[in-house]
Amino acid sequence: MKTSVATIAIFLLSALAFAAPPAPAPLLLTGARVLDPSGDRLLEGRDVLIENGRIAAIGAAGTLQVPAGTQRIDLAGLTLIPGLIEMHSHLLLHPYDETPWDDQVLKEPLELRTIRAVVAARATLEAGFTTVRDLGTEGAGFADVALRDAIAQGMIPGPRVFAATRALVATGSYGPSGFDPRWEIPKGAQVVDGPVAMRKAVREQIAAGADWIKVYADYRRRPGVTTPTFTQEEMAAAVDEARSAGLPVAAHAYTEEGIRRAVLAGVSTIEHGTNVTDELLALMKQKGVALVPTLAASEAVSRYAGWKAGEPEPTRIKEARAMFARALKSGVTIANGSDVGVFAHGKNARELELMVAYGMSPGQALKAATITAATVLRKDKDLGRIAPGYLADLVAVKGDPLADISVIETPALVVREGRAEKRRE
Ligand SMILES: [Zn+2]
Repeated sequence: MKTSVATIAIFLLSALAFAAPPAPAPLLLTGARVLDPSGDRLLEGRDVLIENGRIAAIGAAGTLQVPAGTQRIDLAGLTLIPGLIEMHSHLLLHPYDETPWDDQVLKEPLELRTIRAVVAARATLEAGFTTVRDLGTEGAGFADVALRDAIAQGMIPGPRVFAATRALVATGSYGPSGFDPRWEIPKGAQVVDGPVAMRKAVREQIAAGADWIKVYADYRRRPGVTTPTFTQEEMAAAVDEARSAGLPVAAHAYTEEGIRRAVLAGVSTIEHGTNVTDELLALMKQKGVALVPTLAASEAVSRYAGWKAGEPEPTRIKEARAMFARALKSGVTIANGSDVGVFAHGKNARELELMVAYGMSPGQALKAATITAATVLRKDKDLGRIAPGYLADLVAVKGDPLADISVIETPALVVREGRAEKRRE
């Protein structure tokens, strides 16, 4: 190939465009209680040395050799936990009690939605969530990919984003809906029918930068009636095509048959899972499929429908509570994901609080948002633990999160890849 000056210029420009921000100075966090890599216990009085965005060493206070120019932050009296992972966010949505979902999709300009997502990303990071899997832009095209890249390049503060782009739905199986059938109304996801179209859509999304593929295995196809949508063949095509490119698939699934088809097709996660049975939970366990319960969304939607805390629980919450109890008993992998966007960004900790309220120990909930989530993301060598070699995503909280999960609500310090992003004096 003949290399022209123009080619070199283009190469340099693209190198700049994809440049990661320069590595931060070495950082020593001193005197904290640190969550052990097992996630089961706290180690008193530890120093954590961070170099080039990763944890270089952990040792008893005052024992580590540190390079010249190392910055120090005193964390005496605080507890250091791994950066939290949100497995089901929608950074391009904002709470439905602010603006109904239909209006967000149909009326809000893409530019406004994207700018709002920039603000949401910052709120997420400041809440201690250093990684999110964003499961669909809900009509906002590929804005999640741009958001992911802007954060990765250090342009704006935010969590590391795993983007699912547009999500895939069958005809007549998504909103906005309820219009005169003569009108072609834009949808909040990409509409596909048949295995061939499915493969093409998955390929398009991968080409546009998707890290995960999201499919809707069921939906309300008639008022008040949720039924499976994609056939077994269509689901299998989605998973097979994604797998060819090394990508996992997440399936929105409420119904028994929707969950079954998704699990048999080989998806990696079931989102919501409301009507999952003991038999399906056993199948999920056997096939290594994780459940992402989104309890906080069920609570938020109930609130929007008029329910107030302290009143008898509506069916939606009772179902979520019962589903979670079945899942916990089955031993299926449960990863933390809240469907945030339905409710306010930065309030992600609500999901962990509900997991504890519905039967998990605080330590189990913390694992669902760290070690387990990292494993489901296939990043268990980089994320989810405080150990040498891991990315330095860290959160300092007041109190003991293994005794009281609510202490994670207001972090005192958030570090992402070795950068102190938020510090509350
Ligand atoms: Zn969702």
